[in-house]
Amino acid sequence: MNRLADLDWKSYQSRTQHGDAVILLPIGAIEQHGPHMSMNPDVLIPEAISESVASGLTNALVAPAISYGYKSQVKSGGGNFFPGTTCINGKTLIDTIQDVLIALARHGNRRFVLVNGHYENSMFIVEGIDLALESLRRDGIDCNIMLLSYWDYVDQTTIKAVFPDGFTGWDVEHGGVLETSLMLYLHPDLVNMDKTVNHAPATFPPYDRFPPEPSWVPASGTLSSASKATAEHGKLLFRVCVEGIQGSIKTEFA
Ligand SMILES: [Zn+2]
Repeated sequence: MNRLADLDWKSYQSRTQHGDAVILLPIGAIEQHGPHMSMNPDVLIPEAISESVASGLTNALVAPAISYGYKSQVKSGGGNFFPGTTCINGKTLIDTIQDVLIALARHGNRRFVLVNGHYENSMFIVEGIDLALESLRRDGIDCNIMLLSYWDYVDQTTIKAVFPDGFTGWDVEHGGVLETSLMLYLHPDLVNMDKTVNHAPATFPPYDRFPPEPSWVPASGTLSSASKATAEHGKLLFRVCVEGIQGSIKTEFA
């Protein structure tokens, strides 16, 4: 059993009080991912990766995911104006990360791996970590924290296999082949490939504008087409991320 919140408190205490457990914390977002897919891939993908990573380590627990993320941006997530896209302020995300880390550290935990599934979260997570470490240090508690985004583990060989017609880049992957393939492998009940929209990858000017301009975004909400996504590609992507992350954790926390 490696889902932290499924444990009773005594079992949790005995596994964590000496600080040798590795705590994985998935962080995602609720955000539209096109007409063909549910709005929770940014939560479900890092959660599944974290659970598989934890099952290959001696004493690792997966904390409940932080399911709400920072505001979807036009050029990376389609934008914050789509129905269903439900985001929180940067300050709220910083506070949440900081509070959860401090609480888990006070239980005795000293080793954390934050697994991000939503690009826009990145620097707010960094800030939450930084403030948590600062506050814990004042109390004489030192922790080691790893932060990663799972897609950074997808290597060139996997990219060539998953995108045989050429890779257009991570920035327009929102709701595209990567996330849809992973969801087809992990949660096929939440994908309907009949509803994928075929369109060229979105192109944007080199600047952002505020308020955001919805006409910049394909009407589907996806920034590239998911029509070439398959569960086989999802399995390949999943394995490469899980094995890569396990390797990194073994290196850092040996
Ligand atoms: Zn996503």
